[in-house]
Amino acid sequence: MAVDEKERQELKVWINGQLVTRSEAKVSVYDHGFLYGDGVFEGIRAYEGKVFMLEEHLERLYESARSIWLTIPYRKEELKSAILGTLRENGLRSAYIRVVVSRGEGDLGLDPRKCPKPNVIIITDHIELFPSEFYERGIELMTVSVRRHSPQSLNPNIKSLNYLNNILAKIEAIQGGKMEGLMLTLDGYVAEGTGENIFIVSRGILKTPPSYMGILKGITREVVIHLAAQMGMTVEETILTLHDVYTAQECFLTGTGAEIMPVVKIDGRVIGTGEVGPVTRRLLEAFRRYTKEAGVSIDDEQ
Ligand code: PMP
Repeated sequence: MAVDEKERQELKVWINGQLVTRSEAKVSVYDHGFLYGDGVFEGIRAYEGKVFMLEEHLERLYESARSIWLTIPYRKEELKSAILGTLRENGLRSAYIRVVVSRGEGDLGLDPRKCPKPNVIIITDHIELFPSEFYERGIELMTVSVRRHSPQSLNPNIKSLNYLNNILAKIEAIQGGKMEGLMLTLDGYVAEGTGENIFIVSRGILKTPPSYMGILKGITREVVIHLAAQMGMTVEETILTLHDVYTAQECFLTGTGAEIMPVVKIDGRVIGTGEVGPVTRRLLEAFRRYTKEAGVSIDDEQ
C-alpha cells in the first residue's frame, strides 16, 4: 500500500532528546557528518510491533562510534527507549529505523575537537519493501571495479556515515543495468554487496567471507549463520574467490532491508540451476519466522 506523502511528512523525528516534525528536524551545515561523513549510523527494522535485533544494532553503533573516537552522549538504554518511544509516537508497527550519530557542529577544518556536541538522530519511517518477484526469481549481480576499502584505510567493520565507497559501487552496478554490485577486496577476494553481505552454498556447506576480510559484520549475516547452524548445516567463514561464487550451487545476499535476497546470476554466469535454491528458500522461511518471534516489543516501556 502506498504511503500517503502527507502522513510521511507528519512523522516525528527524535533529535537530541526532542521529538520534532520532519520540517523542524535540522542540523547545521557545519555538522561534520554533513561536511565529512564524520559519524556513524544504524539501519534497523521493526516487524509487526517488535524491533528486530535491537540490542545487536545498538552494540554495533556504539562499537563503530568507539572506533572513531566518538562518544555518544546517551546510554544504550536511553537510546533504546528513545527508539521505542519514537515508533510509538509515530504509530509505526512495521518500520525502518535510522539512528545517526554525527560528530556535530564544528568549523570548516577536520579537527574533531572543534565539535563539542555530537548530534544524535532517530528517524522512523515506513519500510520500502523490495518487489516480491526478486525473492521468487532471484536477482543478478555484477562485479564492480571499485574495491571495498581495506581495513587498513577505513575499516568496513565501522558503519560510518562515509558511504561513498559503496555509493560508487552502486552507481557502477546501476550503470551496468544490474540491481546490485558485488564488491571485492583490494586483493580481489569476494567482500560483499554495496549494502548487503554475501553467502554461497557449495557442496552443502554455507560459506561467507570472514569479517576481517574488510566487510561490515552484518546483523542479518549473524542471524543467518545462527539459523543455518540450528538447521544442522555446516557454516564456514572463509575466503571466497569469484571462481567459488561462480561455481556455487546457491548464492544470496543478506541485510536489514533485503533480508535474504536470492542471487541467480553473477557476471553473466548462471548460479546453480538459475532458480532460487532449496537452502536459500528454507533460510528465508526460517528468517521470516524468526523476525516475528524475536525482537523487543515497541510497547515495552524502558
Ligand atoms: N554490508 C554493508 C556495507 C551494509 O551497509 C549493510 C547494511 N547495513 C550490510 C552489509 C548488512 O548488514 P545488516 O545485516 O546489519 O543490515
